[in-house]
Amino acid sequence: MPIQDPIAIQQEIEPAAKQIVIITHTRPDGDAIGASLGLATFLRHKSHTVKIITPSAHPAFLNWLPGMESVCCYNPNKPTEALEVISQADLIFCVDFGCLQRAEQLGDAIKKASARKIIIDHHQEIEDFADTVFWNPQATSSAELVYELIIALGGDQYIDTELAECLYTGILTDTLCFTTPNTTPRSHVIAAELLKKDIDIAKINTFIYGSHSLSRLKLLGFVLSKRLTVMKAHKTAYIVIKAADAKYFNLQTGDTEGIVNYALSLKGIVLAALIKEKDGKISLSLRSTGDIPVNIWAKEYFNGGGHKNAAGGVSHLSLEETVRNFEDLVKAKHSILSQ
Ligand code: 5GP
Ligand code: MN
Repeated sequence: MPIQDPIAIQQEIEPAAKQIVIITHTRPDGDAIGASLGLATFLRHKSHTVKIITPSAHPAFLNWLPGMESVCCYNPNKPTEALEVISQADLIFCVDFGCLQRAEQLGDAIKKASARKIIIDHHQEIEDFADTVFWNPQATSSAELVYELIIALGGDQYIDTELAECLYTGILTDTLCFTTPNTTPRSHVIAAELLKKDIDIAKINTFIYGSHSLSRLKLLGFVLSKRLTVMKAHKTAYIVIKAADAKYFNLQTGDTEGIVNYALSLKGIVLAALIKEKDGKISLSLRSTGDIPVNIWAKEYFNGGGHKNAAGGVSHLSLEETVRNFEDLVKAKHSILSQ
């Protein structure tokens, strides 16, 4: 069922030079940014003018990525800046998302834009708003798809060290360092091909996993000792970060990345959640093992989605009610969780 036809993409990008806008999902991660930067570099080699727009800020641990200075974040105080660029584009790539809601405030602008639209994504569900899709829900990452696309279009020569670092970062972060069950021999082959481009994996590792702030480390210690609840009978553990915690630890974008995995790392735990209250919003990150479909549950209970073992959503209720809802969900799914 994947739709991965490079010729269809080639027809969209050739022959004339175009104004291209690449848009990521909101709260962009290493894959959304890495895949977008890699794609942008490739398209610039093809003489296109390319802008990358993110609906919200990216984590600081991605600042080192080559080309990051060309990424522009939507500013709600100056909305027209991004909206005009989108309305004037000839071609829009939606990278690492396939549902307009994931582009938040930019979703409407994408829908209304006269540009042709292309989705490059590996999430389970995509909506029917694009002219062309390059989509494979079995792929580890959008970065892996961008690599396949560039190679299929004969662009290996354009993959220099900098482009390779961007794609490697996307694959590395979305596979949790090549450990998620969707990691395939092909993912390793692609990583090997990227390594041949002289990328420095120790440097990349330090930037991504060895550059935390002291406040993030203190927040981690605090939440593990004070905000972790284990529902042992349901093989579930969850962490709550209250607005006051976020304020006290001066929480920055990206500081909570990976924290949910500590809850999942407990012996016998098959479902984990991070429930975070920040800036008047409540977001949830869900993680699971095996066949527990958190993407379906995120959609059912928290207006969200994602992958089978890693999904997220939002809640418009109070923190207490959201926690209660999550516990109700866990209890309702007891038979699946206890298998
Ligand atoms: P995270 O928990 O790291 O924020 O997200 C995990 C996965 O779930 C990612 O693949 C992300 O794209 C997806 N995801 C996170 N939040 C949402 C959401 O609100 N809606 C949808 N549809 N997917 C989400
Ligand atoms: Mn991804």
